Amino acid sequence: MDFAYPAELDEFRRDFSAYLDGIVTPELIDEIVRSGFETRGPATVAFWRRLGIDGYFGLGWPAEYGGGGKSVLYLHAFNYVMAYRRLPVPVVTLNTVAPTLMWIGSEEQKREYLPKILRAEIEFSIGYTEPEAGTDLASLQTRAVRDGDWYIINGQKIFTTGAHQADYLWLAVRTDPEAPKHRGISILIVPLDAKGIEVRPLGIMHGGHTNITYYDNVRVPVSALVGEENRGWYYMTTQLDFERVAISPVPHLERLFDSLCAALRSEGASPPDEWTRVTLAQMAADINVLKVMDLKTASMVANGQVPVYEASLLKVLSNEARARMIAEALQIVGERALVRAGCAGGFTDVAGDTFERQLRESPITLFGGGSNDIQRDIMAGHGLGLAR
Ligand SMILES: Cc1cc2nc3c(=O)[nH]c(=O)nc-3n(C[C@H](O)[C@H](O)[C@H](O)COP(=O)(O)OP(=O)(O)OC[C@H]3O[C@@H](n4cnc5c(N)ncnc54)[C@H](O)[C@@H]3O)c2cc1C
Repeated sequence: MDFAYPAELDEFRRDFSAYLDGIVTPELIDEIVRSGFETRGPATVAFWRRLGIDGYFGLGWPAEYGGGGKSVLYLHAFNYVMAYRRLPVPVVTLNTVAPTLMWIGSEEQKREYLPKILRAEIEFSIGYTEPEAGTDLASLQTRAVRDGDWYIINGQKIFTTGAHQADYLWLAVRTDPEAPKHRGISILIVPLDAKGIEVRPLGIMHGGHTNITYYDNVRVPVSALVGEENRGWYYMTTQLDFERVAISPVPHLERLFDSLCAALRSEGASPPDEWTRVTLAQMAADINVLKVMDLKTASMVANGQVPVYEASLLKVLSNEARARMIAEALQIVGERALVRAGCAGGFTDVAGDTFERQLRESPITLFGGGSNDIQRDIMAGHGLGLAR
């Protein structure tokens, strides 16, 4: 059994890192840090366009859509390197919208959106969650009623992240209120400048904001329907499989750990006390285990298997480890870790992100992408075969 990347992937990681060294400018880093690692600005868009033109965004896409046709392991390696360096990726557009469009989009939709996604010319925002439909997403109530060649949309979404700067919504709507709740949902592509859409900011703890979005008689043509009407739930859940394939939480842990070690090894640093030494050794052990689990999940997908229970296990363990490590990092670094970005004396990681901001951010992955409570439920049902 070999727990490492194949040699060609190691080579790809090295080449890609060297490529990034050549195109990541101080202006880009400054823009990313100033935006609190949240909002994209012009330097970020230019960076994305370059990655698109140079073939990195479409690494795993089939050649017919302008992609490189590489295995999912390359996608994993690409995302890993980007995440370790804390560089932004238009995650939902690349990992949610694009693969679903390739899978069930109409020819017209593929022609219209895929080349623009690849060139980072358009971005999507995901509109699933509603005030009364979060974990129980299938209860969503935003309605789309067919009127000739149009759908008329009315309702409200919450946590529509990026809607203030995206071009389109990937919107889950109820198209058949009579059907069982999982069978009456459809996905529509809705331009964010359509008449009747209102976007209001909703502040978030780690900086920036997500949005509440309102829909008042918003009209879209029936050609905006993705796949078949009332099959949306199936598309949404399958799309989550695409999402978890590519995104690994492990590089964030590695970056945190490397930053701590670098600080403790730096010139003039006092020798770490016993608790710090033991804590860091435990972190190193945890990260090594998580890396193996991460590669196992990625290689399952590369071999045509769907990691359901394994993906939930990795998500729970890695994100709880992340929250724990951030808290321990605070103990190790001391009060400097509580200084906000922009203030003197703060502690930043190797990518320029303050520990203070990461502390505020760390709870999000405990529920984002499916809350850990639900992941445990999946592990009990799918993994252990326990009846509900
Ligand atoms: C910053 C941020 C960005 C987001 N971005 C987006 C986005 O772009 N698009 C989008 O559509 N959504 C987005 N979300 C929404 C996110 O997916 C939801 O917050 C998540 O699905 C949980 O829903 P909820 O907040 O309504 O919590 P609730 O569903 O009310 O859950 C609250 C708690 O109860 C637990 N719980 C609920 N039901 C059960 C159960 N049956 N068994 C055990 N425990 C249970 C949950 O695990 C959770 O801990 C975002 C959220 C945040 C905070």
